[in-house]
Amino acid sequence: MADCLFCSIVDHEIPSDVIYEDDMIIAFNDIAPQAPVHFLVVPKKHIASLDEATEEDKELISHIMLKIPELVKEQGVENGYRVVINTGEDGDQTVKHLHFHILGKRKMTWPPG
Ligand code: 5GP
Ligand code: ZN
Repeated sequence: MADCLFCSIVDHEIPSDVIYEDDMIIAFNDIAPQAPVHFLVVPKKHIASLDEATEEDKELISHIMLKIPELVKEQGVENGYRVVINTGEDGDQTVKHLHFHILGKRKMTWPPG
């Protein structure tokens, strides 16, 4: 999709620090990390947010969810981590292309800000 930052990263038009890629997804380090480990997992298909995901995306989303623990281990995270999907206005989603934040290597708190 034109004018989508994460589509440009998927297409390697904008460089990113890629940690994993396959035919369905790409994972890269966040440019403004909020924890010692902070990477994003992004479907290559443009889906604006979790609200726009459909039955058709079932395999894609389960692929992401099952890939996350593998990537976390590869990043040396051993004591737990957090997965975040900011969605819509109140969810403070700034990039309108579905993405999963994975944060680790520090103790998280609850409730989030
Ligand atoms: P959101 O606020 O939409 O949930 O998260 C968007 C995330 O993308 C933020 O954590 C932000 O730091 C990250 N981000 C924004 N622009 C870039 C970029 O150009 N490269 C990378 N690697 N991350 C980005
Ligand atoms: Zn996109």
